[in-house]
Amino acid sequence: MQGRMQDWPLTVDRILDHAASWHGDREIVSRSVEGPIVRTTYGEVHKRAKRVSNVLKALGVVQGDRVATLAWNTARHLETWYGIMGIGAVCHTLNPRLFAEQLVYIINHAEDKVLFTDMTFLPILNQIRSQIPTVKHIIVFAGTDRMTDEVPGALCYEALVEESSENCVWGGFDENMPAGLCYTSGTTGNPKGVLYSHRSNFLHTLVTMGADVLGIGACDTVLPVVPMFHANAWGVAFSAPAVGAKLVMPGQKLDGASIHELLETEQVTFSAAVPTVWQMLLNHLRETKGTLSTLKRVVIGGSAVPEAIVRAFRDEYGVSVTHAWGMTETSPLGTQATPNHIIAAMSAEDQLKYQLKQGRPPLAIDLKLEDDDGKLLPRDGHTFGKLMVKGPFVVGEYFRGDGGDILDKDGFFDTGDVATLDSNGFMQITDRSKDVIKSGGEWISSIEIENIAAGHPKADLAAVIGVFHPKWDERPLLLVKLKAGVEATKEEFLKFLEGKIAKWWTPDDVVFVDDIPLGATGKIDKKLIRQRMADYVLPTGAAAAAAATVTKALAAPPEPRIYAPESLVEAPAPVAFPDLEPTPAPETDLASLPSPEGLTAADFRSASPPAHQAKRAWLGSYLNFALGLALVPASIILGVAAFTQLGVISNVRGLGLNLLHLAPLMAQASLVTAALGVIGALVAGFRRHGMRALLILALAFATVGFFAWASQVLSRPAAAVVQPAEVRLDLTAPQANR
Ligand code: ADP
Repeated sequence: MQGRMQDWPLTVDRILDHAASWHGDREIVSRSVEGPIVRTTYGEVHKRAKRVSNVLKALGVVQGDRVATLAWNTARHLETWYGIMGIGAVCHTLNPRLFAEQLVYIINHAEDKVLFTDMTFLPILNQIRSQIPTVKHIIVFAGTDRMTDEVPGALCYEALVEESSENCVWGGFDENMPAGLCYTSGTTGNPKGVLYSHRSNFLHTLVTMGADVLGIGACDTVLPVVPMFHANAWGVAFSAPAVGAKLVMPGQKLDGASIHELLETEQVTFSAAVPTVWQMLLNHLRETKGTLSTLKRVVIGGSAVPEAIVRAFRDEYGVSVTHAWGMTETSPLGTQATPNHIIAAMSAEDQLKYQLKQGRPPLAIDLKLEDDDGKLLPRDGHTFGKLMVKGPFVVGEYFRGDGGDILDKDGFFDTGDVATLDSNGFMQITDRSKDVIKSGGEWISSIEIENIAAGHPKADLAAVIGVFHPKWDERPLLLVKLKAGVEATKEEFLKFLEGKIAKWWTPDDVVFVDDIPLGATGKIDKKLIRQRMADYVLPTGAAAAAAATVTKALAAPPEPRIYAPESLVEAPAPVAFPDLEPTPAPETDLASLPSPEGLTAADFRSASPPAHQAKRAWLGSYLNFALGLALVPASIILGVAAFTQLGVISNVRGLGLNLLHLAPLMAQASLVTAALGVIGALVAGFRRHGMRALLILALAFATVGFFAWASQVLSRPAAAVVQPAEVRLDLTAPQANR
């Protein structure tokens, strides 16, 4: 026997149908790629989405075909998204911040048939056009007045929409049909496709609408800074129309000033983005003394939210932060840190500890922690384990079966994250399994240390990686990018960490860097950092020298090429993606594109330290040499004096005298090397090495000055011997002259 309710397939076209029927006049405001603000409504977008469906049908697109979009968050992108899904085709959102080679790989793997693009991306499409043969049509989001023939054969979006009818029947297919395709960013191997179904997206939407999850409603004005190509804008492209919220689409301008302008002019109440975007906004607000007059809540995820951001929003702007965790494979929301009744009763400071965790699972998500042997771990808040997740909007298998069987015997998916679970059900990510630092058989959370270090007032960004250690296998190394114009010492950072982490978690060293690279989704790219630091050796005293050799020998072999095209049989071989050599920037690529994280593709590209960093490393070694030379004359004097005193050298003749002759010459030489060091520091950037170079110069001056003074004394008649060496002896070893 079955239930007796209506069978109403859960297909996502119903979401926009609902928005048009019941919230038809609610606004969608976009900052268009062309520049001006464009206003439309759910009613209008619904009609135009139907026209897009007819365009696609006319181009031969049928159910199950993949249709790609390479676009920023705008109303045009939204209507295309629903136009594709409404007829049962699959909306494949491409991340424009991937390298050209990655885009080629993904488009070929998906076998996209039609590709919609913003004008911004025409140069890159032009460059890869011949390598994506499955793409039969490219449609450019532009009016006829702006259309160019930059990509030969490309079609004009507005002209096609204009010509098409708005009568089109959506839906009528199984809810398990695919609706969307999104590739993981490939930080751990070939990008893999996650193929969402209509049902999984619909259920995800219902869940995220809950008060404890995104909790948005018809009265909200929602600004998804998180792009639609990043796991469906965390579901907001579905949940905002589902509740009839006003939608503000930021286009390609995601810097602090542009986002602030939209937040204020459109009276936004709710927004969602990765931490780096919020950091840019907060910096902008501080610089301009700006305010947030309507914003009530922000959801932050994608990477761990630093405490400083939560405090700034809460204390300076009265905005509450909901920390959330998820991944492409979980549609993406997996947990959110909204308080339960126990936490809500705590003081604001105690609640903060829970806000900084990644949170608890909503209905339809189940979590467990396991050790390496598959043993279930307790929810005690401190035992680390592999985080496993299960639910109807969690991936069951990657597109085309890539990666094989990805679920355990109970149907749980291994997230690749390492986490704890506490008695309130709050999960805390302690690391990616590949980033966790294994020190003496115990695990150290790199994320926890870097989050605290990033809260240091002088830190712009912080990253922690495990570095080979001869005794402990690995020890933490903290890399810090300082805020512009500030200086700091290693000790300041170590002191700052004191008491906040277990003593044995304290990093063995702190290195100040000019750049902490971020990956295509705005997360710290530890793989690249590890490559850059491959030759780095921890300062572990006598063991350091041994470690240097061993580190090289034991360094992990280069990871396999990320874009091995083994699963592509007919598609043209994608350009191999070099993992150790920097890719030469093609003439037209994404290097000039702004990204939500304020980075350009060029920032992601460099795999070796920039030239000026190499120069600085060289200068550091040179200054060590200069310091050594500056110390030699004084050491000689002291050494000869001491040995004479001890009777090892019985008089000033022989070895002692020779050395004493050498000392003033060395002092003069050290003056020259020190002066060169100061010039080097001026050229390579005075901030890092300037003070050191000046101190060495001062030391060299003092030594030369001393010898000058000594020879003056010698030239007086009272001095029997005019040799500086003997004067030194008079001064330092009176017994020898007696
Ligand atoms: P990719 O896995 O390709 O980098 P995703 O966007 O799917 O791209 O990233 C998912 C991963 O991001 C998670 O497995 C987790 O490691 C990290 N992540 C997401 N949200 C958070 C968060 N709030 N705190 C810490 N890490 C997070």
